[in-house]
Amino acid sequence: MEQNDKKTGTGPVHPDIEGEGMDRLRHLALDLRWSWNNAADEFWRELDPELWDLTQNPWFILQTVSRDHFNEVLSRPEFRDKLEALNNSCCSENENSTWFSEHHADSPLRTVAYFCMEFMLSEALPIYSGGLGNVAGDLLKTASDLGVPVVGVGLLYQQGYFRQVIDNNGWQQALFPYNDPGQLPITPVRHENGEWLRIQTHFPGYTLFLRVWQVQVGRVKLYLLDSNDPANFPAHRGITSELYGGGAEMRLMQEITLGIGGWRLLRALGIEPEVCHLNEGHAAFAILERARWFMEDNGVDFATALTATRAGNLFTTHTPVAAGFDRFAPSLLYQYLGRYTSKRLGIEFNDLLALGRLNPQDTNEPFNMAYLAVRGSGAVNGVSALHGKVSRRLFDPLFPRWPEEEVPVGHVTNGVHFPSWESKEAEEMWSYSCGGDRWLGTTEELEAMMECVSNERFWELRASTTRALVDYVRVRFSRQLEVSGVTPSRVEEARRIFDPNALTIAFARRFAPYKRPTLLLHDPERLLRILTDPHRPVQLIIAGKAHPADQEGQEMIRQWVEFVRRPEASRHVVFLSDYDMVLTERLVQGVDVWLNTPRRPWEASGTSGMKALVNGGINLSELDGWWIEAFTPDVGWALGDGEEHGADPAWDAAEAERLYQILETEVVPEFYTRDASGIPRAWVDRMRSSMSRLTPRFSANRMLREYTEKYYLPAADNFRQRAAEKGARAAEIVRWRDTIAGSWRNLRFGQGSVVTEADTHRFEVHLYLNGVDPDSVRVELYADADDGGEPIRREMTRGQLLFGAENGYVYFGEVSASRPIFHYRARVVPYREGLAVPLEAPQILWQE
Ligand SMILES: *Cc1c(COP(=O)(O)O)cnc(C)c1O
Repeated sequence: MEQNDKKTGTGPVHPDIEGEGMDRLRHLALDLRWSWNNAADEFWRELDPELWDLTQNPWFILQTVSRDHFNEVLSRPEFRDKLEALNNSCCSENENSTWFSEHHADSPLRTVAYFCMEFMLSEALPIYSGGLGNVAGDLLKTASDLGVPVVGVGLLYQQGYFRQVIDNNGWQQALFPYNDPGQLPITPVRHENGEWLRIQTHFPGYTLFLRVWQVQVGRVKLYLLDSNDPANFPAHRGITSELYGGGAEMRLMQEITLGIGGWRLLRALGIEPEVCHLNEGHAAFAILERARWFMEDNGVDFATALTATRAGNLFTTHTPVAAGFDRFAPSLLYQYLGRYTSKRLGIEFNDLLALGRLNPQDTNEPFNMAYLAVRGSGAVNGVSALHGKVSRRLFDPLFPRWPEEEVPVGHVTNGVHFPSWESKEAEEMWSYSCGGDRWLGTTEELEAMMECVSNERFWELRASTTRALVDYVRVRFSRQLEVSGVTPSRVEEARRIFDPNALTIAFARRFAPYKRPTLLLHDPERLLRILTDPHRPVQLIIAGKAHPADQEGQEMIRQWVEFVRRPEASRHVVFLSDYDMVLTERLVQGVDVWLNTPRRPWEASGTSGMKALVNGGINLSELDGWWIEAFTPDVGWALGDGEEHGADPAWDAAEAERLYQILETEVVPEFYTRDASGIPRAWVDRMRSSMSRLTPRFSANRMLREYTEKYYLPAADNFRQRAAEKGARAAEIVRWRDTIAGSWRNLRFGQGSVVTEADTHRFEVHLYLNGVDPDSVRVELYADADDGGEPIRREMTRGQLLFGAENGYVYFGEVSASRPIFHYRARVVPYREGLAVPLEAPQILWQE
């Protein structure tokens, strides 16, 4: 998968412990496979049960354990045997054939570089904030499962994202504990001679040195850059300090580090990916650096290099609103990239700015990273069907006169890595029905296997996992109250809170106003009545962080904390602080209902609700993001009318009303309607449908297979063709594009006519090409989609030369007469094989 002439390795983990057993353990402890495969858990627990429960970080345990205890454990034969077996199975897993090797071994795809600002892999490596990192982390784990040759590139944050405590007044306090790199499950990347690999890039006044760390994620490697190098100028050492902290300049420095530093890092390791997957626009500078290397390697100019390399770039956008795109002031960009642009890229700074602007002539327009990503990629996708549509609207201005439906943004709906999110009990149930390798190949057959599981088995699963969750909530919430200084009697009460038999609902997510975390609080008295019904009680778990700069989000947290403190409510609702992936895991494994109330269409996809699927949790969600694709009345509950209503308070009130109604008349009665043996049949049927039907569809397995087949394989192929012979084809394309751009305004439609015969409209148009090669265009009849169908695009055929005209032709086209003539218009668009239109050539001319 890569030609890696560098090696990784630290000094001795523990000065007093060396030898073979240690090497094996070190190997295991540094492989994040343990974050989803629990086979080795008992070893770590054996070495230090308390630390294991607190940190779940084997690498940390290995460094803190005493020599005597270590030697004692290692001297037990059963321990040594098991360790050896584990090591062997780990090695053979890496050598086994995989979905990728079985289906695509002969493809031109050797390496996908996957760039992201954050990766959510394990709480032992806290370098994530939320959904974006979740998708990135789960994709890497799935690449390991499926054998897709992905290499991750990201940043190692010394402080990561903030941690949350709730003070006695209900306000969130943000904490920034320091991550000691020595105790994270990562290793420095060194040269053969032991010298630490350091990537360099020019920053104003100073060279920026970036240290490189490696994370082993099963078969896959993730490389992390870190600016905390003593050789750096002090202001630069903190670039990789906080995730999503600081202002525009800090963000720009981070994005240059990720994009430009990241691509340099791959080069330094001898990795030459065909495909570069930009997960969100933050990493878009990688486009420039990739092109820059292509220029140097092949002796071509920037335009040719960009044309060759963009065919291998895929941009995944995650933003549902234009305000979410990163933008930089031109002067700031000049400060950091002025020299790079002229010296390395060999272009004018205005040409660079043009790549990030809607209107290249507008000198006030800031530089938009998402525009750079679109202009530097061979394909663009959103993260759900609806988000694809929303993104086509957002990027529509880049493709003037094109119908919105044809703006070149597709979609791959997100999915999650189920082995990371399923409870032990759910894992057993799935393994029993579908086998232990169920996520390693295709998954279309899983649904039928799960359909056969008995009602009793489903209900047992629910009983055991909810009991575990209730125990966890009691411990965690009582500690949290103790920390915040409440009375001992309240702490004592919290230790007995909740009932394992009661309906349990969770709402856990970022407290951003668009997620409407307080929708349930719209009518607090009504909520109280739902929670405290003596015959049909409901318990509610709330969790979430608000960005430290988001006052409104923090106020929403305070409102919940205030509600939780009402004596009538206190036995039925908790706010758990410091929402992180450990808490997510606990919640999705034990809740009955996962609630989600975003304002449509601002939840681009959402993933937390998917994590509940595998465990038998049922979603009650706004019809937004992934839920629109998943929802049918037998798998869960839907809120909203499938329309957009902005932030209209009246609409929020109506949805709150509807939410209470769904709870009162559907969710609660269904949960409490039992058969003779105590099982809620309708509920269990819903669990079964949701679990068996939706889990395979919203798995990262499905997601990554889709990325691979729809995007990675064609991108690798196209890139190789354009790159061959020093970019010969790319150079032709550049010339072709210049010609098209220069001569397009000469195109002109002449007269047209149409006759209808039987059930066919026959169109005829005259087109004067005036210098444009007829083979470089397609003439089409176009009709907008009607009634939710697809738009009609019918190619017209070129007929005879027009009498007396130079390069003017008649074009003929036929369409069914089922739609009226006036729905159709003729148009001309650029055409060239292997070229993405309109992404790479946005011209279009319509017949008047
Ligand atoms: C899954 C997860 C997310 C993503 O949640 P959504 O609200 O669905 O976007 C965010 N944070 C954590 C800790 C998660 O585990």
